[in-house]
Amino acid sequence: MPFLELDVLNNPNNAILGIDLGTTNSVAAIWQDGRPTVLRPPGQNDGRIPSVLHFPEDGGIVVGRNARALATESPESSLFSVKRLMGRGLEDVRTDLDGIPFEGSETDSGLLQLEIRGKKYSPQELSARILHHVWQVAGAALGELAPLRAVITVPAYFDDAQRQATRDAARLAGLEVARIVNEPTAASLAYGLDQKNDGTVAVYDLGGGTFDVSILSIEEGVFRVLSTSGDTHLGGDDIDQTLVELALSELAGKADEATLADPAFRQGIRLSAEKCKIELSSRPESELHVVAPEHGIAWRRTIRRAELEERIAPLIQRTLDACRRAMADAKLQPSDIDEVVLVGGSTRVPAVRSQVQEFFGREPHTALDPDEVVALGAAVQGHVLSGGTRDMLLLDVTPLSLGIETMGGAVSKVIDRNSPIPTQVTEGYTTYADNQTGIDFNIVQGERELARDCRSLGTMKLSGIPPLPAGMARVAVRFSLDADGVLNVTAKEESTGTEASIDLAPMHGLTDPEVEQMLLDSYDHAQEDFDASRLANLRIEIGTMSRAVSSHLASAIGLDRDTVLDIEEAVAAAEKSATTSDVAAVQAARDELERATLPLAAALMDSVAKRALEGKTLDQV
Ligand code: ADP
Ligand code: MG
Repeated sequence: MPFLELDVLNNPNNAILGIDLGTTNSVAAIWQDGRPTVLRPPGQNDGRIPSVLHFPEDGGIVVGRNARALATESPESSLFSVKRLMGRGLEDVRTDLDGIPFEGSETDSGLLQLEIRGKKYSPQELSARILHHVWQVAGAALGELAPLRAVITVPAYFDDAQRQATRDAARLAGLEVARIVNEPTAASLAYGLDQKNDGTVAVYDLGGGTFDVSILSIEEGVFRVLSTSGDTHLGGDDIDQTLVELALSELAGKADEATLADPAFRQGIRLSAEKCKIELSSRPESELHVVAPEHGIAWRRTIRRAELEERIAPLIQRTLDACRRAMADAKLQPSDIDEVVLVGGSTRVPAVRSQVQEFFGREPHTALDPDEVVALGAAVQGHVLSGGTRDMLLLDVTPLSLGIETMGGAVSKVIDRNSPIPTQVTEGYTTYADNQTGIDFNIVQGERELARDCRSLGTMKLSGIPPLPAGMARVAVRFSLDADGVLNVTAKEESTGTEASIDLAPMHGLTDPEVEQMLLDSYDHAQEDFDASRLANLRIEIGTMSRAVSSHLASAIGLDRDTVLDIEEAVAAAEKSATTSDVAAVQAARDELERATLPLAAALMDSVAKRALEGKTLDQV
């Protein structure tokens, strides 16, 4: 995949895209005709793009919907939830790596890497693939090149390294970050809460694998995050897991150990559990089934909504505990909350909605799709940043304190948590030994007293201090935190006016030269990468189409013999072509197959419509 096709550089589109780069799903939106609109791939009414990567055996990387489909068959070459790895070190993500089928390692500068099919990738590069794909989908939806500038959202608790990693991912994807915005702030913007009266908002976000609650205040259109809480390992996946466990316990006597441990078999159960859960959000009962003919298993069981609710009660309770902590941190009572906003696909579960409503004693906003609301808010912010009208200043706060390690390993805080950003604070320091000509600074983020209990954001060295008695040198250290929450630190020796330059070495991050090098490498390999990924996608599409043909051709009514022959020929040609590596030829064969199957699609639509008219429900067709 070329991260930057050259014609893109002359992109005339100067609008700003809104992107919710999610752990499970990502969504793009843009301001159109006076309001934010989700960009859905043509022919689809779902704007969610799975944040999934798949690495086919014969090269290339498949992203999004196709990757998610392939992950069912081969979970061992698929990657979920790369967002969890962004801006973290190897030690931070030990438990996350347990669920990932790839080996993790760390470079000398603390940059995490995953080894996938013999190549090493940083989380930034992998996220860049997702962002680039989201950008492509946005372009397909718009029918023109999508804008290269984007507002990207991140969880409110993301620290500096995680925000910086998100920025770097965008750069690698060829995007310019117009602003990094907190997800709860974006959700509130989507509901236009900034334009209502001043007040306090609780944003409850239950996604696929994470739960976040944020308490925001709005004063004259200015947002501040008062507190955040949550659980980075609690979400819809855990709801699915309760059903997976139910299935596994009932299957225990029916399937052998090897089958139960087979990753593909487990992945199948997981998907079936998710489907059942989603149905239970709109129906009182649904069926959970595990069908694996190759293992001789065909098991089904009716699940009632009440049964699921009972199983997930402890999970919901944990989210409410976090809400309680967030309220305590913000020094507020639930009755102080003026607005409640629900975010994340899992807030569609009726029990979640009703319990959140009960907790805050007020009906939550649910008019917007909880999967899309963050992207919609990002698009609103993009509109404002691109010069659009909507009077609003966006102010966030830093979620964690920032400081410097002092002698003895204690932390001297420079910027306190919950300070509104952008902000700039300068503190004075001095030398502790006679004739000391250099100082090493360790910049840390966190609330603990000792530096070793906080996260080190990086170290820097100030040298060139003139030799002076201890305590005589005056070093001014300036922390400036920009509107994206990205930190820049500078230091200056003032007693003699000597300036020394210092560099902040990013922890778990990429240096500018590294980003440049990665971009150059991606140009070098652009064509081959692009071809391999295109081939992989084309093969998937051909596979999907020919499977559809073989299951529907026989039953399609009203197709003449020539058309049937034409379809069969196109299938054979496309399948043969898919075994070659000639991208142009495979593309042509795929397009030909699509053309040939149009009458089949029309015939199927027809028969569906006819049977519906005969009074049968669509389920029976
Ligand atoms: P993230 O922000 O983590 O990327 P999303 O907000 O897209 O995640 O939420 C994904 C989760 O929402 C998945 O666990 C999915 O199963 C769940 N979900 C989606 N639709 C429904 C529904 N109708 N009922 C219950 N859960 C749902
Ligand atoms: Mg989300």
